[in-house]
Amino acid sequence: MARRFQEDQLVIASHNLGKVREIADLLRPFGVKVISAGELQLPEPDETGETFIANALLKAHAAARGAGLPALADDSGLAVTALGGAPGIYSARWAGPDKDFNKAMAQVEELLRGSEDRSAQFVCALALAWPDGHSEVFEGTVAGEITWPPQGDKGFGYDPIFTATGQNVTFAEMDPEQKHMLSHRADAFAKLVTACFGDPQR
Ligand code: IMP
Repeated sequence: MARRFQEDQLVIASHNLGKVREIADLLRPFGVKVISAGELQLPEPDETGETFIANALLKAHAAARGAGLPALADDSGLAVTALGGAPGIYSARWAGPDKDFNKAMAQVEELLRGSEDRSAQFVCALALAWPDGHSEVFEGTVAGEITWPPQGDKGFGYDPIFTATGQNVTFAEMDPEQKHMLSHRADAFAKLVTACFGDPQR
């Protein structure tokens, strides 16, 4: 059985403000005070793991050790079936130092051209680590397919080329609330909350 989160404070092991805000919103109903690794000026570890879970664990353990508090990290990306799961853990890196996702999306399409199988999934791994070295991990996914050309401007990253199964618009054409109900991150969070946080307002 998963360890329950009993503390009052949690470090969000990210320097990305958008991610920190999204996670803080999701945890608000549980009355947990959150602080980010950025605010604590904790160093960002290199993401040297070979899986989403390994990278999430690496970030969560580093922040928990550095802060002496429990820490939550996420690692996520797009896995395209016909590309053997690429870009996968390299999703952010395919966009290069300029974070040019138009380039990264074009690379997906170029490699996929001619393939009948356009299926893909977004994956989100969440790791919750405690300063004593204990950790819990959860993985969420959303299945869909690669759409070309890119459509919509509401999302980020690969959203304009991803259409979730059963939907007729891309993630970038949806309002954030609609995307958050379907997303890989929502799936992983639901698992984390059920296992470690229990009912809102403990
Ligand atoms: P991370 O911050 O190292 O976990 O990198 C995640 C990368 O995966 C992001 O930079 C995006 O390229 C991609 N990604 C993860 N989640 C999403 C999503 O919900 N929509 C679009 N792209 C995503």
